[in-house]
Amino acid sequence: MQAEIISVGTEIILGQITNTNARYLADQLRQLAIEAPWQTNVDDDPARIKQALATAKERANLIFICGGLGPTEDDRTMAAVGDYLGRQLRLDEDYWQQIKAQLEARSISATVSPENIRQAYYLAGGTPLSNPTGLALGVYLKDGAHTYVVLPGPPHEFKPMVDQSLLPHLKADFGKGYQTYSALLHFVGRPESLLMQELASLGLDERLVVTSYVQPDEIQVRVTLHDVAKEEATSLLEQAIAKIARQEADYYIGRGAGVSMASQLVALLKEKGLKITGAESLTGGLFQATLCSVAGASEVFDGGFVTYAASAKEQLLGVPVETVRQYGVVSKQTAEAMASGCQQKMGVDVGLSFTGVAGPDDLEGHPAGTVWLGLAIKGRPVESHLLRLPGQTRQFVRQQSVQEGMRLAYN
Ligand code: ATP
Ligand code: MG
Repeated sequence: MQAEIISVGTEIILGQITNTNARYLADQLRQLAIEAPWQTNVDDDPARIKQALATAKERANLIFICGGLGPTEDDRTMAAVGDYLGRQLRLDEDYWQQIKAQLEARSISATVSPENIRQAYYLAGGTPLSNPTGLALGVYLKDGAHTYVVLPGPPHEFKPMVDQSLLPHLKADFGKGYQTYSALLHFVGRPESLLMQELASLGLDERLVVTSYVQPDEIQVRVTLHDVAKEEATSLLEQAIAKIARQEADYYIGRGAGVSMASQLVALLKEKGLKITGAESLTGGLFQATLCSVAGASEVFDGGFVTYAASAKEQLLGVPVETVRQYGVVSKQTAEAMASGCQQKMGVDVGLSFTGVAGPDDLEGHPAGTVWLGLAIKGRPVESHLLRLPGQTRQFVRQQSVQEGMRLAYN
């Protein structure tokens, strides 16, 4: 059994939106161990939608058609699928009354247009799929050896429909009686190829599938198990994760969705009752912005400094003029003076500083990607670390500096 996802929408074809629906659905199918090797994008053209269906029918027996169920003229998906399958569009009368009542309750009855009724149509012989956060009905239709699923485009409607209306059908009809178990692990500060080599040499159970994804600010690793009973799967996964966490202790930052270097650092500081501040040169505030992207950051961060020019480092942080003159801005000495300067000025426990060359040009004879991090922790000697990042782009150098700085403070 193979599945195909057809995403319908001119905006996708023109590169105006990213196809997040297909990504979401593919992830759900993977978890159900439904193999879905085909994805097609097509614009809102009925003839081409039908062509896409004909191609899909040849190679897949579970076919998803996503997008274009709105009330307007350019939304033609349901009609095109009906036409292709030779099925009448059928009005779900109860549902239409419900839509009307909903629209009227929202006191936009003036906008209950004859067009809206199109959203209450589904394909004869199919099962309507309800839409908890929008209007358009989807459909789940078995046609001989094939199953067709039609869903609307807006992601805030698409996801709840998949979760609440579609997955129960898929589990009942295509579930294999076993599940896929997996965990998402986050790493910072290790190149992907090196990390994967190290994981491969750990001698993990052979049934574990380990895959990696490079993100701008971290490496994600998914560890997956197929076709293993729940208890065994859980114990295999936990053993493997414990081993990985031990071996990669300096780079492993945690597991699960929503975990990031920043969220882990904020959680650790919170747990220890500590506050942090920053003095940023090349990162221009990116560290502090990243920290503040975590909900609850205010408990560990009161404020900090963006000191781009040497004069700002001197005036705001009290970095001695002679330090900058003698060693330069891109130096161990300046990084350390910035870190203890900001820590003392803010009167907090931890001061983290960033000074270096974002590029593209050299600075003080140092190539782009040369960065000094300073870390001042109350009651300890101030530390500093030199990074030599591949100076790909300014943004890359700045992001990597922030991640490495946070990792330094975290460890
Ligand atoms: P509507 O009633 O909003 O028109 P619809 O079912 O007709 O719903 P579309 O017209 O295909 O859906 O898309 C509506 C909007 O939803 C698009 O403008 C786009 O912002 C978003 N969207 C559609 N398809 C996708 C997709 N595959 N991934 C992400 N966003 C999408
Ligand atoms: Mg539309």
